[in-house]
Amino acid sequence: MDDFQPVRGMRDLLPEEAENLVSIIDKAKKTAALYGYREVITPVVESFELLNVKSGEEIRARMFVFEDLGRRKIVLRPEFTASIARLITTTLKNEPKPLRIFSVGSVYRYDEPQRGRYREFWQSNFELAGSSMPESDAEILLLTNRLMKEIGLVNYEFKLGHVGILRAILNQEGIDEQTQNAILQKMDKREFDVALELVADKKSRKTLESLINLRELESVSPNPSAIMEKIKQLVEGCEDAAKAVRNLSDILELVHKSGCQIKTVDPAFARGLEYYTGMIFEIYIPELDIAIGGGGRYDRLIEVFRGEPTPAVGVAHGLDRIALAKQMQSQMRNTVTTKSRGRKKRRVIVIPINEAMKDEAIKISELLRKAGVGTELEVMGRKMARALEDADRRKVDYTVLVGEREMKEGKVVIRNLAEREQKTVDIDNLAKILRRQK
Ligand code: AMP
Repeated sequence: MDDFQPVRGMRDLLPEEAENLVSIIDKAKKTAALYGYREVITPVVESFELLNVKSGEEIRARMFVFEDLGRRKIVLRPEFTASIARLITTTLKNEPKPLRIFSVGSVYRYDEPQRGRYREFWQSNFELAGSSMPESDAEILLLTNRLMKEIGLVNYEFKLGHVGILRAILNQEGIDEQTQNAILQKMDKREFDVALELVADKKSRKTLESLINLRELESVSPNPSAIMEKIKQLVEGCEDAAKAVRNLSDILELVHKSGCQIKTVDPAFARGLEYYTGMIFEIYIPELDIAIGGGGRYDRLIEVFRGEPTPAVGVAHGLDRIALAKQMQSQMRNTVTTKSRGRKKRRVIVIPINEAMKDEAIKISELLRKAGVGTELEVMGRKMARALEDADRRKVDYTVLVGEREMKEGKVVIRNLAEREQKTVDIDNLAKILRRQK
């Protein structure tokens, strides 16, 4: 029989990978605190009906759906926004606006597994509900920028668009919402010819085609103000589209003034989720051709969930891809500066010199942990020489040897394994000394 393996698309994160992910989660939490977003923890499972309301066909088709023992149709959450919208329309409905909500956790999609694409992956999610002002869109972009910086990513780029421009053009000739969604989905997949075929009216099709063509121009000369000017000219005569262009310009200006540079504006950019109504964006790094995060404005979603009309804007950061991005960038950097060693945690192991000293060794380990020094204990019942050999092999930095003679004087021996030095110290000073060591 074959060995047991994780379910396809699921991964075990081993200590180093888990540590990397947790360190990114910590930074996301820190960013949330800096911007005033309060964390909520929602269930991993939600009702099928909730996700069916307005996730968009893209995600609906890839959800993990099953029946529980009570015959309820439930899903493993494929994103956070629906859960947060559920909260805003129920438990938090009387909370004063704006509401700033942060969540982090695993989400599930039946994607085709490959590098950077898994069926279980992690997101940090920020939602700002209650404001339609461009400063709230700018805030979501700025906090994303801060998080990317905090994580240490370099050369990342935002790609910005506005669903309102595209929808306004399609609305001109009264294309129904479902067809509009289909068109935007095709555009999201960069299947522009198929998208254009779905637009019957010649005038709208021409405008859309020109917007699509602008995207090529943009990649040659990345200059948002020039491209914004061109978009403005193209949508002349369509007041709603012009309004959306002005909104995007306002957001860009606010963000630029705060020192965050956005070079890429793509008027043909659309996103798979149906609920976006305004500014949309994604983040990329040159080393990966898949987005490491994305978000946008969704002003009608809360209403769809039977809440008071509440404009909102948010972002989901793909933490597994961010971890991968960080790893790729630090590998690149390491080939240039071979010396760049990461900060390593100090490893300490307490070894009783014989069986009789076991109790004392446990006591000393607990004492160290209480003082905030991470400590392992020799638990294999090995003789001291073997235990030291093993510590050496596992690259432990310090061993604390607990012997009878020293204990009688309230002392233990600290051995620095790399330097092959040892000294006898008072137990009372042990934690202080270990904390001082590099
Ligand atoms: P979305 O809500 O689809 O825009 O997803 C937000 C972010 O989650 C994306 O920008 C990706 O970084 C990440 N993401 C989406 N799907 C996957 C996946 N299958 N595996 C890993 N990360 C993903």
